[in-house]
Amino acid sequence: MNIVSLDKLEVAGKRVLLRCDLNVPLKDGVITDDGRIRASLPTIQYLIAQGASVIITAHLGRPKGERKPELSLAPVAIRLGELLGKKIAFSSEITGAASVVSSLGAGDVLLLENIRYEAAETSKDEAERLVLAKELASYADCFVSDGFGAVHRKHASVYDVAKLLPHAAGYLVAAEVEVLKKLTDNPERPYGVVLGGAKVSDKIGVISNLLDKVNVLAIGGGMLFTFLAAQGKEIGKSLVETDLIPTVQELLQRAEKLGVTILLPTDIVVAPEFNIDAQPTTVNADAIPSDQMGLDIGPDTAASFARAIEECKTVFWNGPMGVFEFPNFAHGTKVVAAALTKVSGISVVGGGDSAAAVRKLGFADADFGYISTGGGASLEYLEGKELPGITALA
Ligand code: ADP
Ligand code: MG
Repeated sequence: MNIVSLDKLEVAGKRVLLRCDLNVPLKDGVITDDGRIRASLPTIQYLIAQGASVIITAHLGRPKGERKPELSLAPVAIRLGELLGKKIAFSSEITGAASVVSSLGAGDVLLLENIRYEAAETSKDEAERLVLAKELASYADCFVSDGFGAVHRKHASVYDVAKLLPHAAGYLVAAEVEVLKKLTDNPERPYGVVLGGAKVSDKIGVISNLLDKVNVLAIGGGMLFTFLAAQGKEIGKSLVETDLIPTVQELLQRAEKLGVTILLPTDIVVAPEFNIDAQPTTVNADAIPSDQMGLDIGPDTAASFARAIEECKTVFWNGPMGVFEFPNFAHGTKVVAAALTKVSGISVVGGGDSAAAVRKLGFADADFGYISTGGGASLEYLEGKELPGITALA
């Protein structure tokens, strides 16, 4: 499928509605990783250079239609202004912003408040979404979609506006899709996928879809314990999704039939509680004490995952190997990240927390082939699902 590229859209001197993904992690109102803001800059800078007036919509977290002050985009507007090196306007009104919009001159940038403060943004009711989409569309002459992290959502500012205005994909969306195409269309082999993160339920679809496409699949993070439980192992107080155990058992059987190696940890770093100061102990994966929880893959596992990764020509990694936010449980994530930097072919890191993890652990973006801004979106693409926000850009 061909999506309209930005160069094909008439934007000079126009009012451009731009969807960005500015969903950055915040702690006490401070942005802890501005990667997604930086990734949005090329398109915004291009539009400014073209003399467009830029009206940006974006979301932060899941306010579910309520004005939650801790999810305001106001701090993001400040950071965006700093990175652009120019003052940008911020409107706390989303639907009533017509007068602010009409005051914008050529090259001016306006960020609208968290679009998910509007319940219509994420509504399942198309007519409801359309009311909001029409309001947003009334602000602009055309629409540029650059919020890759949200393109798997049928949301008003992502999907419905594209139906109402001449549109194009921004540079970030175009770059993301190009990288994901390399992973899905004939990847150079061996092809390895490393999955971690908190929940199996988020990743089960992609694991199932990738099973017959990859050469190696390595599982770490909180979800590995559902795998260990599926093998009948004691997992103590570790994170587990009991209802998914049968699904995981089927998956393991299918992998065996297909001859695909699923790498599971042989050792685990455990602690008595989920706490930054919790005392770490390394145990065998089949000897997790009943009063402990697994918070990282063990050093032997990390080393063997690293060896497998380094032998691959194509690697996709999503989901931290452990609770990297706690230094005592960041080792596995760090070793896997380091292995990705040594891959001679293409290495892709996907997922908001994974991207934040590699930066927090001291890696540079340039150490990897590509750091995707999308977690769910890139996983759904790899699952082979249609992404509404991409299909709408044809
Ligand atoms: P991404 O955003 O990269 O897709 P996820 O959101 O799926 O990643 O998962 C990230 C979270 O998983 C991190 O906050 C990390 O602390 C958590 N996590 C990793 N391993 C464990 C574990 N063993 N127990 C609990 N949480 C874990
Ligand atoms: Mg996450």
